[in-house]
Amino acid sequence: MIKTKIVCTIGPASWDQEVMRQMIAQGMNCARVNGAFADTDELDKVRKLVRNVSNDVSLMVDVKGPEVRMNKFAQPIPVKINDTLIIGNTEKDTIYPANYKDLYKFVKPGQRILVGDGDTELIVEKIVGDQMYCTVTYGEVIKPGKALNLPGCQYSTDILTEKDRENLRHAIKTGWEFVSASFIQDAASAKYIKEFIGDAPMKLIAKIENQAGVDNIDEILDIVDGIMVARGGLGVELGLEKVPPVQKILIEKANKMGKIVIAATQMLESMVNAPRPTRAEVNDVAVAIYQGADCVMLSAETSAGKYPVSCVAMMRTIAGEIEKHLEPHINNSMIPYAMTADGLTKAAAQLCASLGQHIDSVIIVSKTGTTARLLGRHRIKQPIHVFTSNQFYKNTLMLTKGISTVGIFEGISRNSASFDRDDAITLIVKKAFEAGAIKKGQRILLIGKTPAMSEEYFPNIFEIVGV
Ligand code: PEP
Repeated sequence: MIKTKIVCTIGPASWDQEVMRQMIAQGMNCARVNGAFADTDELDKVRKLVRNVSNDVSLMVDVKGPEVRMNKFAQPIPVKINDTLIIGNTEKDTIYPANYKDLYKFVKPGQRILVGDGDTELIVEKIVGDQMYCTVTYGEVIKPGKALNLPGCQYSTDILTEKDRENLRHAIKTGWEFVSASFIQDAASAKYIKEFIGDAPMKLIAKIENQAGVDNIDEILDIVDGIMVARGGLGVELGLEKVPPVQKILIEKANKMGKIVIAATQMLESMVNAPRPTRAEVNDVAVAIYQGADCVMLSAETSAGKYPVSCVAMMRTIAGEIEKHLEPHINNSMIPYAMTADGLTKAAAQLCASLGQHIDSVIIVSKTGTTARLLGRHRIKQPIHVFTSNQFYKNTLMLTKGISTVGIFEGISRNSASFDRDDAITLIVKKAFEAGAIKKGQRILLIGKTPAMSEEYFPNIFEIVGV
């Protein structure tokens, strides 16, 4: 088992039961569906493809909010520098913003428009009626359905479009674990989505993809369950050279807060068409892992590329190698939302670092997974085996680095039969042993809680036990 988790975007290249089975076998931990293209039928299709193989892979629906996308015209349009391209506003036009009528009202001459991940750049020269006349400044082709980034343009859109709302309601109803929300740029936009989720247990991942999101990262991290370093958006909004330092800062900040962090976009991009990645891509994945990312993400590589299974295998191979070189790293930042669990997991990480091979593994009984997540951030060498209270929480740990196995221990919930401390310890060790997580003769650090009657959050067992 590798410690880093792998998120795969699902699309035509992976809408196949056998491909899905192989991607899961190679180590995919989370299936993400890009809401720009998907409707609720597609969400169901992907859920079934995944669940036919495994209940232990998490599902993430991506909502697009203020993202502008162009229509899906029939063929890619070749362009060259200084060409004039007209972006219209209705279906009568060849190119128009499919999900944002009236964009032309907010755009002024001189506005930069970046297409896709910034592969093509246009400058708006003039606006005639509802048509934007643009000049191509670089790029070779405009592909259908691509996102348009308009740095600095204040156009008004909802944080969630009607389609997003429908997808999100459906994902909540059908038990998806994560929503990744595009263009979260302040506490207010994060709160808006949290409020939409309401009492449902779904976790919110904020996609940080522009300068405002970077500037307001502290207030965003206070609200969300995790962030995605959305390097596609960041690259076009900030400039490519600004992405590496921003990635480093965002990963550090998320680690400090004990929140999930996903490094995303173009990680193995050349594998869309080639069976092997470039050295630079391998290094890019390695850097994200060294920096402390919980997850690495595949986008077009697994949704539209030729080698979806090999991409997952490649991610696993790179992660497995890099993890051999990671030293334990005790993160001393305070976690205000879980003080006791923070203290205990820091102590556990210290103990594991100083006892080294004299502790074989850690078992955590963590009802919702928070304590497990907090231990994961310290990068201990020992495997971490977790028991959560249900399948949903189990799957939410599929985005947390450092967790080796997760089992379900219903005894953590209310009305458990086991209220005695020693009984609880015996029961937990027995369960871990039966699950094959630990072996006879091993020394285990056990963190848990008992009696299970209490709804109180904090763990109260911290014990080294011999198996
Ligand atoms: C990104 O911009 O890096 C990103 C992840 O966006 P999308 O969801 O469009 O792939």
